[in-house]
Formats: sequence, C-alpha cells, structure tokens
Amino acid sequence: MERRKILKMLGIAPVAGSSLLGAELIAGTSSGASPLAKGGRDFLKELGVRTFINAAGTYTSMTASLMRPQTMEAIMYASDKFCMLDELQDKVGERIAAITHAEAAVVTSGAFAALTLGMAGILTGKDPERVKRLPKLEGSGMKTEVICQKGHAIGYNQALTNTGVSIVMIETREELEKAINPNTAAMHFLHINADNGKIKHEEWVAVGKKYGIPTTIDIAADVPPVENLWRFNDMGFDWVAISGGKALRGPQSAGILMGKKSIIEAARLSMPPRGETIGRGMKVNKEEILGMWAALETFVSIDHDMEYAKFEARINNIKSAAEKVHGVRTQINHPKLGNCTPTLNITWDPILIKADGNQLREALRKGTPSIEVMGGKENLSITAWQLKEGEDRIVAKRVREVLQAAI
Ligand SMILES: *Cc1c(COP(=O)(O)O)cnc(C)c1O
Repeated sequence: MERRKILKMLGIAPVAGSSLLGAELIAGTSSGASPLAKGGRDFLKELGVRTFINAAGTYTSMTASLMRPQTMEAIMYASDKFCMLDELQDKVGERIAAITHAEAAVVTSGAFAALTLGMAGILTGKDPERVKRLPKLEGSGMKTEVICQKGHAIGYNQALTNTGVSIVMIETREELEKAINPNTAAMHFLHINADNGKIKHEEWVAVGKKYGIPTTIDIAADVPPVENLWRFNDMGFDWVAISGGKALRGPQSAGILMGKKSIIEAARLSMPPRGETIGRGMKVNKEEILGMWAALETFVSIDHDMEYAKFEARINNIKSAAEKVHGVRTQINHPKLGNCTPTLNITWDPILIKADGNQLREALRKGTPSIEVMGGKENLSITAWQLKEGEDRIVAKRVREVLQAAI
C-alpha cells in the first residue's frame, strides 16, 4: 500500500517533507476515538461493546495497550502481501536479535507462548521425534524438571508445565545445588519477582553455567526500562521471554522469544507452519510478525526519560485533583522491576468517604466517559501510560467527582 493511502486510512493528512508517522502522531487524539475509526465504521458501538479510558494499565482483560501508527503501518502493509512464513520469521528474527543483543529471536503469540516454545526448544533440541512427542516426556529420554525459586512461583509457570515438565521449588543456593540432577532441564527466573527470591540474576546464571543447565527468564511486563530488552541476553540467560502487547505496544497477541541460536532454532520446530507439534496453535501471522518488529524498533527509538516525565506529570494532575477531597490520601509509587510507570495510590478515611474501592471503580466505569482504574477494597490504583493526550484531565475530574459524591 502506498503512503498516501495508509495515511488516509489512518485519518491523517500527508504532510510534505514530514517524517512518516512522526512523534506528533504517537500522541494520539484527545477525543478517545481511534484515528482509524475517524469517518469509518464505529464497530464497537455497533456491537454495543463498551470502550473506556484506560487508567489501569496493560491488562490482558482490558486488551492491554494501543498500537502505534508505525505498527499499524506494518500490519496494513503485510495484509496485502504473500511471503513464506519461515523466511519472514528468519529475517525479522535477525533484526530483533540485533536490537536485543541475542544470538537469535522469533516472534511468538505472546510471552506465554514464548515460555512454552522456549522450554520445548530446550527439551527437544532439533530431534523431530522428540518435537512430535511433547508433552509426553516419560520414556523419551528428554529431561523432566525445571527449577524455580519459591518467590518466583506464579500461574504463568503453566506455560512451562504445558511442555510436560514439572517445577521443582527451591529457596536457597544450597537447595538449588542439591536439586540439580540429570533430569534438570532448566533453571527458570521471574524478573518481576526478583526481590522475592534469595538468589539474584547473576548468581542464577552462574550456577546454571557451573552445572551446564540452561537458564531462562520471564520479563513479560518488564520494559521500560528499555535496557531490559538486552540486559538479560548480555547477562548470559539462555533465553528471554517478553510480551509484545504490553508497554512495547505491539500486537496484543504477539511476544518475543530471544536467546541462544541453537535453542531458538529448536523452538521453531514446534512452531507453525509445522503441524504435529504442541505449538501449532500458537500461530503468529505475517501482520503480527511485522507489527512486532515495527513496535520494537519504535520503542527503542523513543525518548523514555521524556515519556516517563510525561506520565509523571499526568499522574500529578490526577493526584492534585483527588487530594482536593477532604479525607483523601495519595501516594505516587515508582515500581522498579515490572510495570515501571508512576503509579498513583489513592486511599481515604472511611468515616468521611462512605464508599469502598469497588463502588468507586463502578462509579468511574458507569460514568461518561467510562474509566477503568485498578485497586482493592480500600484503594484506587491509577497509571497514566495508557492514556491518550488530555485524558489525564478527564480522569482527574472524574476521580475527584466520585470521591466527593461519596461524602
Ligand atoms: C503478561 C505476562 C505473561 C503473559 O504474557 P502474554 O504476552 O500475555 O502471553 C507472562 N508472564 C508474566 C510475568 C506476565 O506479566
């Protein structure tokens, strides 16, 4: 598709000499209407599906994030062309690997699929019989155990056990070295929970190297900081899994598996176009593959300090508005491991403000425009990184109103 047509579809007038889809367009619109929908069908309205301002964050249930124009350009470009799926994965994989300091990379259908396929690659190597056999490990000669720290145990480990392995939990360095045995396939690390484990990244990798056990890491929600894209490859983890649809703002259904060439190549054997594999249902199409690459390129090119300052300014606007209500307390947190974005915590004196968190969130949800925030029974938790320009003012106003109304 030619540039003029793409711009037309995006509802953008082409400007002579401007860089295609520049930073001013990343900002989005102030209305809440997608530029794509301008003048076109309002599909969600037709369906009666509620749309909302996302002051919550990159949650799968809320469709996570919005793709940038650069990503949409790649997706629309791809939708009009045929190419060989493997050739596209080869070439995009090389580009992604160069950005992330990995030996190799592949676009997967999310971080969850990256975890499953990465583990499959470790278990099967390039043996086609083994690939076909997963997840039936018994009697196959494949290893069967993955070691994980207790503080790193989360539901997403199901992605690993889907290959047939079981998780062996340990807490100390001593327990770790005791747990390693001839059935140990890998040692898995969860970056966002690094503070909950006694063993830190470098030591984890060092023990793996000492015993010849591959080390793997889930950093699904852990950019920004942008350096995390290469930090764990540089550190020596055998593979790294990341979500494409969270802060990277690629397709929600995409992710990246990156790491040692031999393992990535082995993982590819469990991926489409090959059938008879556990990964056949984890297909990514050419639109997602190109979209993921474009999203990654854009992400590494933007000024993340400026972005962070922008999100912080928005959060400060919401904070000041909430504080105007008598009995409200606010605090801005700066998560360091994952979901690294200024996060506003709002609490209140229940004697003065007679509503719980659920009732306040319902009021925000039912208002116009509808707004989603997070939190529990006793707090509201708000982020600004998924807001469009100007939406912080709407959120500020509505948060103040619903708190005031509960007095
Ligand atoms: C979101 C998330 C996943 C799953 O990522 P998808 O891209 O949605 O498949 C896995 N692990 C962690 C820690 C996550 O936060």
